Amino acid sequence: MQRLRTLLGATGPRALLSDGRLAQSVLPARDRPAQGWDVDADGFAAVDLLIEDGRIAALRPHQAGMEGLGLGGALLWPGFVDAHTHLDKGHIWARRRNPDGTHAGAAAAVAADRRAHWTADDIARRFAFGLRCAHARGTVAIRTHLDSYEPDQARTAWEVFETMRRDWAGRIALQGVMMARLEQYLGEDGEALAALVARTGGCLGGILRITPHAGETEVDAVDRGLDRLFTLATRFGLDIDLHVDETGDPAASGLRAVARAALRHRFGGRIACGHCCALSVQDEAMMTETIALAAEARITVICLPLANQFLQDRVVGRTPRWRGIAPVHELRAAGVEVVVASDNCRDPFYAFGDHDLADVLRDFARIAHADLELGAWADSVTRLPAALLGHPPLAIGAPADLVVMAARSASEFLARPGAERVVLRAGQVLDAALPDYETLDDLSGQTAGA
Ligand SMILES: [Zn+2]
Repeated sequence: MQRLRTLLGATGPRALLSDGRLAQSVLPARDRPAQGWDVDADGFAAVDLLIEDGRIAALRPHQAGMEGLGLGGALLWPGFVDAHTHLDKGHIWARRRNPDGTHAGAAAAVAADRRAHWTADDIARRFAFGLRCAHARGTVAIRTHLDSYEPDQARTAWEVFETMRRDWAGRIALQGVMMARLEQYLGEDGEALAALVARTGGCLGGILRITPHAGETEVDAVDRGLDRLFTLATRFGLDIDLHVDETGDPAASGLRAVARAALRHRFGGRIACGHCCALSVQDEAMMTETIALAAEARITVICLPLANQFLQDRVVGRTPRWRGIAPVHELRAAGVEVVVASDNCRDPFYAFGDHDLADVLRDFARIAHADLELGAWADSVTRLPAALLGHPPLAIGAPADLVVMAARSASEFLARPGAERVVLRAGQVLDAALPDYETLDDLSGQTAGA
């Protein structure tokens, strides 16, 4: 059954899509109709959407009897924005498994693979594979972290990234993040790293790893490193996106340190902190205090449910006792913007994944108990990450980049992952197939077709 594809394939330069269901949360406040929304229990409302010359010309509450392409209540989504990925690491699982499924196992496996295989061609082919998956699924913008732990390797990764960014412009807007240890920003190297990032409009980032001076505590060392990072970001006009507290250790205090540094520096740029898992295992008072600091510092928290579920609380032979994710409901309730993203795909940090934010949202909804209010969380893979990346949201006058799904409710969306999906780019049906796994076989020593 290709009912939607056949229907939407008939769109000309002017088309009215009538009776689609859109989550109110995906629209900027100014574009939400002041009245007439009939929002259902899941947080979706029936709308009529007019496309003219590839752009959204009007968006109104659905009126029965409208002429146009009747969607019969199919869910409408803005093009997805994936705010946290690792396209340089992706699709190495066939040649580099995670021996025990732990975070330490993943880090060691990826480091070994990087040293052995990451030529420009190797990175470029896996990177492009990931982009083709994301494009076919309806993603319009991606932020990717780029391993930059060694100077030569960093140069190679960023050269590949710049080529991809140029080649994919107009299909997927790409943004890069420097994935470095905090201590790499110290000294003159910091300027060079920031200049490299500034060339492509990317972000400073990485992990809060820094060796304390003699007599210095680890907390003080992290503060010293963050002072340097925020100084560089301010000087070069860059945003910041860090991997923070990706652990089940309740003593982890990275988010608190980043929030304090942001407030100390009166930082004017955007800040994102990915993971923040440890918050969920801290005592309530500590968690609440840290969340309040994050809200005050206007930090966006990026939840990576699939990698967290895969890596957190994993001990061979023991059943996991917690779900691994940040306390997303408490963060939102305190005014912190929460974005949901895909993170790793088919590498030692997450063995599966297909660069599909609908898939990520489905798993997130179940893991986080966002399933009964899916519409309220629809912004976490659309409007909020778009704002973080500086990508235009779904709005009147914006390109008609939409994803239409053969599901009319959260229940149908969650229950049937394989249901038909049609991606519209600038109002036209996108004809893009998922790449075949076989095309990467030679990168892992497999013979194509074997
Ligand atoms: Zn990550």
